[in-house]
Amino acid sequence: MSPYPGLMQQTQLSIIDILRFAATAHSTREIVSKLIDEPLWRSDYAGTFARTAQAAHMLAGLGIVPGDRVTSLAWNTHRHFELFYAVPGMGAVLHTANPRLPDEHLAFTINHAESRVLLYDVNLAEIVERLKPQLATVEHFVALIADDYETCIAPYSPAFDWPVLDENSGAFLCYTSGTTGDPKGVLYSHRSVVLHALAAGLPGALNFDAADVIMPCQSLYHATAWGLPFAGAINGSKFVFPGDKFDGASLQTLIESEQVTFSGGVPTIWTMYLAYLDQMGVTPGSLQRVIIGGSAVPHAMAETFERRYGVKVRQIWGMTETSPLGVVSTPTPALEALGGEEASEVIWTRQGRMMFGIQMRIVDEDGAILLHDGEQSGALHVRGPWVLSRYFRSEVPATDADGWFDTGDIATIDRFGFMRITDRKKDVIKSGGEWISSIDLENAAVACPGVKVAAVVGIPHPKWEERPLLLIEAHDDVDLDAHIIADWLSARVTKWWMPDRILFESVPLTATGKIDKKTIRERYADLLL
Ligand code: ADP
Repeated sequence: MSPYPGLMQQTQLSIIDILRFAATAHSTREIVSKLIDEPLWRSDYAGTFARTAQAAHMLAGLGIVPGDRVTSLAWNTHRHFELFYAVPGMGAVLHTANPRLPDEHLAFTINHAESRVLLYDVNLAEIVERLKPQLATVEHFVALIADDYETCIAPYSPAFDWPVLDENSGAFLCYTSGTTGDPKGVLYSHRSVVLHALAAGLPGALNFDAADVIMPCQSLYHATAWGLPFAGAINGSKFVFPGDKFDGASLQTLIESEQVTFSGGVPTIWTMYLAYLDQMGVTPGSLQRVIIGGSAVPHAMAETFERRYGVKVRQIWGMTETSPLGVVSTPTPALEALGGEEASEVIWTRQGRMMFGIQMRIVDEDGAILLHDGEQSGALHVRGPWVLSRYFRSEVPATDADGWFDTGDIATIDRFGFMRITDRKKDVIKSGGEWISSIDLENAAVACPGVKVAAVVGIPHPKWEERPLLLIEAHDDVDLDAHIIADWLSARVTKWWMPDRILFESVPLTATGKIDKKTIRERYADLLL
């Protein structure tokens, strides 16, 4: 006999149910998309659900079965959005590959995922051609264009017999490549994605409703676009996908024509957008709220959006490992009681407030738990139903025995529950929302004949948030200059990883003989500003 007679139903949380719901309860709410070299696409949730079924049939026809991996190499379009539902819906896993990764990393992720089908946007075909010889497991390549993807799905029925899946089945595979070495995969489950989406849409977080028109300007391949494709659909919001164009003029055209109310992206996107508004003397019109994350939000950016244009800024912090939402900077009455200016400062400068579902703590170097007083700073640990347990295929857990994951960020937490990043333990550079490995750059530089020590740090940049600075200490009797180093590096690293400055000087060391990056960062904090 059950100790709980009459217990509630145990329906499994499932990603396709989000779209099924939106197609029923918000059937005519629009899905609009810019495409690569095609006219603006316009459909609705009902139409999208039908096309998702056709995509699932097509993939089943290619032999995809539950558990298989399918890779997308694509921008922010409705076709990519359909794959977000079709692939997990049929029980397979969507690996959202990042086209900005260096070729070898990108090939590594697709091979590591053992992906069987690769669907790609047409302007990424060149990358696909380059990688093809290295992709051992991919059996089918489908271009996301009218005369390939559309022709492939067209013959199929707009209804699919979506399987009932265990909510702990895999759904998305997102790779992160922050530190040195190979990229690491984080495998999201149906359960983690649905719970994350429910929490993300709450009034205390992103506050979505059916009147919202959401334009995701963070890449769909970054941690499932911060969960927006699910959180928005749960709430029946209209979607506007900007394709591959994130410049100010393109975004403004869509905001005006589609009456966008909400958008999200990394600070670099908004730096470009605000510069465009200023230059053209126009305003963001219907735009009411933006979420900004991936890197710290500059104070002036938040102030300009809110004071000059009346657009609310919500900073978010998260990682691929946390699905990614960890905190969102929404106000509380306790905070507002401090008064307008002070409350705004907190909202603008803190990464955000703890949200239900994610537990957080800060610990010192000995593992002692620190106070939430806004002063004590330590390693930021998180745990919860949308935090990873171990990396894909890894033998070892990524957390301690109690499930705490060390984020590599250093933070304070104040009495209102606002977390603030104060430093970064992991040695990486984040430029325009994408990682540059300082260690890989150092290894490349130090291999150059004549170089004794090479040190790379990220320093503040007005457009890209951070850019690499390379310090070189040469052997005594060698004559090196920046051109020699730059030529050496350009043959070995991706173009956008190239250091903005190469300086020759003795590299400062810490007491334990390691490169003292903190001192270098402080010394050159203003170099690019
Ligand atoms: P994403 O793909 O969502 O950017 P990543 O896993 O690549 O996630 O990067 C996560 C890291 O980015 C965090 O650990 C932190 O160092 C940095 N980060 C994210 N959001 C912020 C923020 N609001 N302020 C400062 N740093 C941030």
